[in-house]
Amino acid sequence: MTGYDDNNIFARILRGELPCGKVHETDYALAFHDINPQAPVHVLVIPKGKFVSMDDFCRNASAEEIAGLWRAVGEVARTLGLVEGGYRILANHGGHAHQEVPHLHIHILGGRPLGPMLEGGDVPPDGTFTR
Ligand code: AMP
Repeated sequence: MTGYDDNNIFARILRGELPCGKVHETDYALAFHDINPQAPVHVLVIPKGKFVSMDDFCRNASAEEIAGLWRAVGEVARTLGLVEGGYRILANHGGHAHQEVPHLHIHILGGRPLGPMLEGGDVPPDGTFTR
């Protein structure tokens, strides 16, 4: 992935240029409802810093920024009542994962049984790939 695009949609949400359904905000993170929810609860948690992806974040974020993002993820899941029933977090990085927005975002999904981790998973039980 290339450099950070200041006009990506989440950068614009962070600057207040576009609205969002805010759930939670700290010095390090903003959480808001996904516009196209894939589960009864589908929230995105984003760092306030300019990080394109998980790889960029893990390489370049400070310890405070890393802790701040993950604390926010845990707090949001707890606040939304997902701890007891269970929830899934995921972050798409790059092309194979279909990352659409080039600002790191952690998806929090829950509110119903979520099924297998990957739709139509093609990895057999012994862990070897077939193609
Ligand atoms: P990803 O494929 O991991 O990059 O996911 C991007 C997510 O951002 C998708 O689930 C979209 O529905 C969501 N999304 C895109 N635009 C907005 C927006 N303006 N507000 C909230 N969620 C959005």
